[in-house]
Amino acid sequence: MKGKIVLEEHLTTALNNSLWDASGESARNGKAYMEDVEGKLLDTERRIVEMDQCGIDIAILSLTSPGAQSLLDTRKATDFAKQTNDHIAEHLLAQHPDRFRAFATVAMQSPRAAADELERSVTSLGFMGALINGYTNIGNADTAQYLDEPPVWEFWDRVAQLNVPVYLHPREPLPNQRRIYEGYSSLIGSAWGFAHETATHAIRLMLSGLFDKYPNLTIILGHLGEGLPLMLPRLEHRLWMQRDGQGLGSAKLPVSHYFSRNFYLTTSGHFHTKGLLDAISEIGADRLLFSADYPYESMVTASQWFDNALLSTNDREKIGRTNAQTLFRL
Ligand code: MN
Repeated sequence: MKGKIVLEEHLTTALNNSLWDASGESARNGKAYMEDVEGKLLDTERRIVEMDQCGIDIAILSLTSPGAQSLLDTRKATDFAKQTNDHIAEHLLAQHPDRFRAFATVAMQSPRAAADELERSVTSLGFMGALINGYTNIGNADTAQYLDEPPVWEFWDRVAQLNVPVYLHPREPLPNQRRIYEGYSSLIGSAWGFAHETATHAIRLMLSGLFDKYPNLTIILGHLGEGLPLMLPRLEHRLWMQRDGQGLGSAKLPVSHYFSRNFYLTTSGHFHTKGLLDAISEIGADRLLFSADYPYESMVTASQWFDNALLSTNDREKIGRTNAQTLFRL
């Protein structure tokens, strides 16, 4: 399929590389794999060649995980976000305006500063929304602030005003919450831990009442929804059974209501037709978006799968291009 749009596509910057120690990730993923990824994260020309090979017109770029979410100093994190967004605007968007868009990096250590930076990125730099890598470290590497928690609602208030999507992207679980992976450290990241961490985070958002206060919020989840299309019906059923209808948290409605009204899912890193069909059956083909998760995944693998998957032509057009055009007003 020609003219595809992708939106979980990562890059890095020299500034990001200087701040973030990737050694843990390298050890878990294998050295050759990470060297290849690290080269591609910086290589714009190679990215465009692969997009051309695969029939991908537009990539919405974002800084690779964990980005600003892992910086312990609030002031530094806020400055880092601004510098990252300026860099992407100057070096990627301005150079290739017909091929690239971007999600803003925001530092949730200060929700108000994050809201201001999102507003600047959207209104002055032309960004499409924000991509946030899960929880934010507050003060030290073993403390987290999740996006449903009260200090963050000031940020959501601005997101609702700006009416732009927020991509909830995975990061690794807190260092002090990894006991279940001991002896199996390769499960901490994208193979398994990412999905568990991010799905639970999304459930927190749905149970918090956030979508009652801000019904127009749009959250995007990658990896075919991090397992939620399969697991949410059971979650909803058990909350109701166990708590006699009181298991809804602060939310007014069952989770399936918010999932189908406030969420979009992408195919990033999960190139499996049965899973896609299940996601379509739960949330509808209008809320699925094609993506690769480059350079952790190959655009060629993603596109060969998607272009040949057993889908109707209508659904392939929607998921590959027109849903994203509508959502991002492209
Ligand atoms: Mn990703």
